Amino acid sequence: MKIVVLGAGVVGVTSAWYLARAGHDVVVIDRQPAPALETSFANGGQVAVSHAEPWANPGTLRRIPQWLWQRDAPMAFHPQPDWHQWLWMLRFLVECLPSRAERNTKATLALALYSLRMLQALRAETGIEYEGQSTGILHFYTDTRALDRAIHAAETLKRAGIAVQVKSADECVALEPAFGPSRARIAGGLYTPSDESGDAHKFTSALAALAARLGVQFRFNTSVEFIDARGGEVASVAVRNDDGTDDRVRGDAYVVALGSYSSPVLRAIGIGVPVYPAKGYSITIDLAEGDVAPEMSLNDEAYKLVYSHLGNQLRVAGTASLEGYNTEIDPARCEAIVRRTFALFPRAGRPERAQFWTGLRPATPSNLPCIGRTKMRNLFLNTGHGTLGWTLACGSGASLAQIVSGARPPVEFPFLSTLLEH
Ligand SMILES: Cc1cc2nc3c(=O)[nH]c(=O)nc-3n(C[C@H](O)[C@H](O)[C@H](O)COP(=O)(O)OP(=O)(O)OC[C@H]3O[C@@H](n4cnc5c(N)ncnc54)[C@H](O)[C@@H]3O)c2cc1C
Repeated sequence: MKIVVLGAGVVGVTSAWYLARAGHDVVVIDRQPAPALETSFANGGQVAVSHAEPWANPGTLRRIPQWLWQRDAPMAFHPQPDWHQWLWMLRFLVECLPSRAERNTKATLALALYSLRMLQALRAETGIEYEGQSTGILHFYTDTRALDRAIHAAETLKRAGIAVQVKSADECVALEPAFGPSRARIAGGLYTPSDESGDAHKFTSALAALAARLGVQFRFNTSVEFIDARGGEVASVAVRNDDGTDDRVRGDAYVVALGSYSSPVLRAIGIGVPVYPAKGYSITIDLAEGDVAPEMSLNDEAYKLVYSHLGNQLRVAGTASLEGYNTEIDPARCEAIVRRTFALFPRAGRPERAQFWTGLRPATPSNLPCIGRTKMRNLFLNTGHGTLGWTLACGSGASLAQIVSGARPPVEFPFLSTLLEH
């Protein structure tokens, strides 16, 4: 079959790779000049099965009133005159119910574990390089009560067979010596040795090059204008080339992997997906000899920040702001990340050199992505990966390719149609 994949972020490119491996002819369309230049560009870098618990959980519900008044709160809501935003927020509150949060965590865990296996297999097969580290993630706490709650919550991970080791403050420093100067602040941590990290942008670019060698055609600088759907199926995709000319791209099947922009494109043909942009920020610090930055990937539970050492850079990412499709950088948010980073790691490079970035997570209220077939026979989705698009990319791409090929993915996950009914 000829498959047209819309979007060359980490999700679109992994979809294209697994579709090509399944024997399909694949063309990928993206408005950017290269892969992974939007949300997949400078994310937190964590491949974190241990992050399966969604933002929508009872703990978040308790903290929302305090965050409403905090300028640099990890989560912010800026009301827009857009009922999709309000509906998303209401659905998010529903997903905070304990039973929903538990169900969403289990489904995410299943897909994340499968995804990690697929990433490891891909690495073994192709030798793909992306500043990857397989040294686990240390989730550290500065508050003893929060640590105790986390130890309790980690039971779900343990039941799924994921190793979680409780670490004292001294053990945290032993695992990550860069904590030395801030030892007194650390209450302890949870270490998940099977987690990984790596540069999602480098991974996606390298995988796109490998996919091109398999025959996948990439059409960059090409903007998707609309999907031409008639008679219950997609007839073509209308695109605009860089030189301003219009064109139609036709295939036997179509995959929408447009990240946050999937919703408006799909809405125009009567398909509603609960995907709304959750804006996040990252800072990237170039490291020089003599700098003392964390080597291990870390998770700062108090500030909801993640740290990854990517080659000769330190990446720190976090925050979620619901404010529509605004991609302007709010310096106050980035400066808050810089302050926290250097409060903990005073010798982690030069703060004034930190590069600021923002990206729109394609977030669903449950944090479960929409993967599978739509009500249109030849239209498939792989979108809505929210906080975990890098973690879930290989498993989502492999599952999508199996569904398109008429097979059932080997993972307990509410693939599409079930999900859209929620
Ligand atoms: C601050 C931050 C930190 C994060 N940290 C992590 C982490 O540590 N671990 C993790 O697993 N996940 C993390 N994520 C989430 C992860 O980055 C996303 O889930 C993932 O990048 C989404 O990938 P995607 O391919 O769906 O979307 P995108 O990367 O946005 O790809 C969509 C593509 O569609 C293209 N496109 C859109 N509209 C059009 C159009 N009309 N025409 C043509 N092309 C179009 C875009 O150019 C883009 O290339 C983080 C996200 C943020 C913002």
